[in-house]
Amino acid sequence: MPKTAPAKKPAKSSIAPKPADAKAPAKTAAKKKSTGRASTPAVKKPAKAVRVSSKPAPAGRATAKTAGAKPSRRTAAADAPVKERSGAQMKPAQIEDMFARLRALNPAPTTELEYTTPYELLVAVALSAQSTDVGVNKATRKLFPVANTPRQIAALGVEGLKPYIATIGLFNTKAANVVALSQQLLDRHGGEVPRDRAALEALPGVGRKTANVVLNTAFGEPTIAVDTHIFRVSNRTGLAPGKDVLAVEHKLLKVVPDTYLQDAHHWLILHGRYVCKARKPDCPHCAIRDLCRFPDKTPGEPDPVAA
Ligand code: SF4
Repeated sequence: MPKTAPAKKPAKSSIAPKPADAKAPAKTAAKKKSTGRASTPAVKKPAKAVRVSSKPAPAGRATAKTAGAKPSRRTAAADAPVKERSGAQMKPAQIEDMFARLRALNPAPTTELEYTTPYELLVAVALSAQSTDVGVNKATRKLFPVANTPRQIAALGVEGLKPYIATIGLFNTKAANVVALSQQLLDRHGGEVPRDRAALEALPGVGRKTANVVLNTAFGEPTIAVDTHIFRVSNRTGLAPGKDVLAVEHKLLKVVPDTYLQDAHHWLILHGRYVCKARKPDCPHCAIRDLCRFPDKTPGEPDPVAA
């Protein structure tokens, strides 16, 4: 059985684009249940064969303890990201096979952010830019019981909101955006989250990626929000090579079979987060290794299941 193990926060790869919503704070990919953003898991040497655990292990936030430290030459070399070269375009039959395998491993993929309403999801995604889902979930578990509607958050105000999200990066700007978007929802949409891309993108701090996440995850629209994980996986595998997130998004919408479009976003993001990691993709245990066109796969014993 193929794999999906958790890891630590993946480092940016040379092809990793800036988050689509990077211009303003509030944005990122959505998720429902808790877990963190990958943190490099212990890489076991494939003793014999491969089996893939579909259950992501708890991941924590990377510590910034050594953030400013100058790495030694040896450390720097060891930590260097894999050389990124896009794989050749996958053929339709391979794409069909790829998603069939991802679906077999995880029939009902979903976001790791916790939410119960479209508004809660919108706020969680807005808070998640450059933060872990675990960190966002910790904050919203305290915030949502107190305020989980546009009216309640607007009433809280920026200064009232800050203490709940102070553990999240960029919380000052995010607090301003969340309060402003809540007020705009009240002023223009009757306090409801609009099921409309243009209206979503007009909200403060909401960009294309955040809008796609809300449309896909809260409203079931067949959209794909291309984040750094999906960008990486799409390029490496040859599923949808593209030089920027928009090019990849458009290509994905063309090549992903309709049957898989609804859940493609979550399958790809989870695969990128836990298996096809930025620094050292777990190719030896990857369920789609034989289909993947990445020329620089991590060496190791091939997965007999996928072979
Ligand atoms: S074989 Fe390696 S590069 Fe290709 S999808 Fe799997 S983990 Fe990623």
